[in-house]
Amino acid sequence: MVFCPVGTVGDKLRLLRLRQRAINGDLSSLYQRPETSALALLRQLGFSERIIKRFFKPFFAGVFFEPDLAVSSRAFEFVFRAFALGDTALPAKGMEQIPLQLAQRLPAQRIELGCKVERLIGHSGDVGSDAEGDAEGDQAGDLGSNTGVVLGNGEVRAAKAVVIATPGREAARLLGRPAPETRGTSCFYFAAPTAPINGPYLVLDGNSEGPINSLLCPSNLSSAYAPPGQALITVNCFGHQHDPDQLALLVHRQLRAWFGTAVESWRQLAVYQIDDALPVQAPPVNAPSAEEPLNPVAERIWLSGELAAPPSIHWALVSGRRAAESVARDLQGDRA
Ligand SMILES: Cc1cc2nc3c(=O)[nH]c(=O)nc-3n(C[C@H](O)[C@H](O)[C@H](O)COP(=O)(O)OP(=O)(O)OC[C@H]3O[C@@H](n4cnc5c(N)ncnc54)[C@H](O)[C@@H]3O)c2cc1C
Repeated sequence: MVFCPVGTVGDKLRLLRLRQRAINGDLSSLYQRPETSALALLRQLGFSERIIKRFFKPFFAGVFFEPDLAVSSRAFEFVFRAFALGDTALPAKGMEQIPLQLAQRLPAQRIELGCKVERLIGHSGDVGSDAEGDAEGDQAGDLGSNTGVVLGNGEVRAAKAVVIATPGREAARLLGRPAPETRGTSCFYFAAPTAPINGPYLVLDGNSEGPINSLLCPSNLSSAYAPPGQALITVNCFGHQHDPDQLALLVHRQLRAWFGTAVESWRQLAVYQIDDALPVQAPPVNAPSAEEPLNPVAERIWLSGELAAPPSIHWALVSGRRAAESVARDLQGDRA
């Protein structure tokens, strides 16, 4: 970045200092630092308004789905640390490879897909609240347990332990808690005869001149993302409450300003409006200690994922492991 005109020479030195600050110490000390907003932290550290507008805002806005950097400085430093310590990567065959890899380690019959958990059994909000709840509790009891779940098709699954690992809104619904505040995003996918850029770059809108936050050509990273002779282009916009046709027009206008008439040959494949892409990460953001045991939220019910830890694959894995270890300890206690 030394020769890139995005910020001043002083900004480049401040970036090095920010990098050092973010990688100092361990993660639990990072989450104990005094907390402010990411924007306030960058100003405190002396960054110019130019680099904030042209780099920090568009780049981290795409990470947090929050255009004004009004997120916790801890969440910001956690993400900056991740970018500083490791490569930025996309699985060659898509993000789904992560759960597939985890699932491959389990016997196939242990996992049932495509069945929504409608309600929990054994959670005070549900069991015994009505005749239906009593009947389900009895069914689970017949299966040797007072805990379990009711599926969308009405079937009951009894369980010695239940771990809720859904997105935050759904976890809150199951537990009868208020829904967490979230940020949304809209993603466009295009097929094109050629990619508009070469190489593994994320293109940011540093001028805030339209709805697009970022653009990427995943097929530049892995040939698995597009058939031979074609390119896949993804375009990400803030928010999800758009009129999709109106947004498509604005996206097209901005893409044409960037890449010219070549855009006319792009074919729109899909648009996804993701309502609850991420929880709002305004202060306070706290991270669980990976070492401390995780207490159940109700008898034999544990909570992992977004409602239990900050969002990210890292924290999803940490909170999943903590929940698994706590369940294992609890079940061992049963056997003792
Ligand atoms: C567009 C986008 C880009 C992202 N990019 C990154 C990134 O680059 N790096 C990063 O670290 N994080 C990223 N994140 C955040 C990351 O994806 C999440 O923090 C992480 O996936 C959370 O993992 P999880 O296992 O807790 O929940 P999820 O991955 O959301 O999995 C929850 C599962 O629960 C299932 N489910 C929901 N309700 C029910 C129900 N009632 N019954 C049964 N099953 C149910 C869902 O189908 C889903 O499979 C991104 C998020 C989005 C939306």
